[in-house]
Amino acid sequence: MQEAANLGADMVELRLDFLSSAPTHDQLKALLADPPVDVIVTCRPKAEGGHFNGTESQRLEILRLAASFKPAYVDVEMSVPPCEAPQGRLIVSHHDFAGCGGDLEAIATELAQTSGVVKKVVCTAGGPQDALRTLGLLRTAKKPTIALAMGEAGVLSRILAKKFGAFGTFASLRTGAESAPGQVTIEQMRDLYRWEAIGPETDVYGVIGCPVAHSLSPAIHNAAFAAAAMDAVYVPVLIQPGPDSFGRFMDELLARSWLDWRGLSVTLPHKQNALAYVGADRCDELARRIGAINTITIGSDGSLRGDNADYAAAIDSLCAAMGIERDGLAALPVAVLGAGGVARAIVAALTHYRADVAIYNRTVSRGEKLAEEFSSHAYPLAAATRTEAQILINCTSIGMHPDLDASPVQSIGSSVNVVFDTIYNPIETRLLKQAAAAGCTCVSGLEMFVNQAVAQFEIWTGRDAPRQVMRHIVTDHLSNGGD
Ligand code: NAP
Repeated sequence: MQEAANLGADMVELRLDFLSSAPTHDQLKALLADPPVDVIVTCRPKAEGGHFNGTESQRLEILRLAASFKPAYVDVEMSVPPCEAPQGRLIVSHHDFAGCGGDLEAIATELAQTSGVVKKVVCTAGGPQDALRTLGLLRTAKKPTIALAMGEAGVLSRILAKKFGAFGTFASLRTGAESAPGQVTIEQMRDLYRWEAIGPETDVYGVIGCPVAHSLSPAIHNAAFAAAAMDAVYVPVLIQPGPDSFGRFMDELLARSWLDWRGLSVTLPHKQNALAYVGADRCDELARRIGAINTITIGSDGSLRGDNADYAAAIDSLCAAMGIERDGLAALPVAVLGAGGVARAIVAALTHYRADVAIYNRTVSRGEKLAEEFSSHAYPLAAATRTEAQILINCTSIGMHPDLDASPVQSIGSSVNVVFDTIYNPIETRLLKQAAAAGCTCVSGLEMFVNQAVAQFEIWTGRDAPRQVMRHIVTDHLSNGGD
């Protein structure tokens, strides 16, 4: 409790069901007589996802005993008959660990009619659209309410609860100390998502992906919003692979204009799904050729626009290092190593600006397919060492952490004078070390990574992005051993 108070929690939930044996009168007195912060006493039965092992009458007896020390709140389940509930200020709760089935609105109405001073509806997110449903409960609540969806897909409901006037949210003391699935830590809630700054007018942004838990985007964009003094928050949105799950979430999001959702970053595996959902005619020309977008902008009227900030970030990183405009790429010979998603975006952009592109890939047939589509030439990866190109761009994952000693080429061809490695971890790859030793201009994937976040910020807000703040988040993360 003291640790929670020190971290800035307004209240702690004392989960008595996590104790290995039933607490005695003296133990409860020690815990509750003079707590450092307001306390919610809970003793959750197994049927509602708790750990209490004894009988129902033993459980209620513990709660009544705890209530006699007058904690700020006692949480009792809706299933407890009112005559057996403890005396005191009650949070009356409903938990569904199997999903978000049933009529949540009807459950919330039933809870509102109980003697509880706070009502609490908790379900388990089958997808992030369930989190949007719990936010809807908060929005229309007349009584102080806690409503959230557990699980990774429900994380956004825990963060955005503040915008919709929730009585509170739950956060863990530290990673590994979660009392329910999907809890973020108090520190993350306070510093990363800026809980205190979230209010009814806050604009919402997020990153869609699978997986998304380790995405750096929330750290980068929330820091950028804070630095720009913008009333905005950026949350992770876990969507399972496939166009159907993507479409289901987007439909539910767009049906709720009151969310004030203004933009989405899109990462693997949804970039193609995003373009299909937004519609090619609402995406920029190069995004259409690439067949993928990573940025969705949502107008206040619900209109959508799609952009591919990946190619722009890569091309602009290269041009900045060379001191040229995009048009200056015309006729320059470029060797692109790789034929995956990143190579595709870069080849599309380079050929759009009329560079002379040669693709080198391990799986030659994949390289040939890409070359055919963008009127370039394909070769085996092993031939890249003999390239006669002036610019060499690595879009393979060779040399990425933890394979620090690997390089896609044995040596840098004598014609090459610029080397761009799209890998950003490590910032200086083996390839870039080879390039520096050969006297080439070096461009790190870090620039591309930061540039795409900068481009998204500027597309969404129309303002200059706080580039240095965003860059610092990435370098800080990498220097702390993040991947
Ligand atoms: P992808 O679609 O999976 O493509 C991977 C590419 O790497 C393919 O061409 C593959 O060749 C090649 N490859 C992988 N392992 C190889 C090996 N052991 N030997 C030879 N070739 C190998 O991945 P992607 O999304 O394009 O990402 C590629 C890289 O881009 C990532 O590793 C990442 O470091 C970098 N990236 C950077 C940023 C940034 O912002 N800086 C953003 C995203 C990605 P085959 O076709 O033969 O399999």
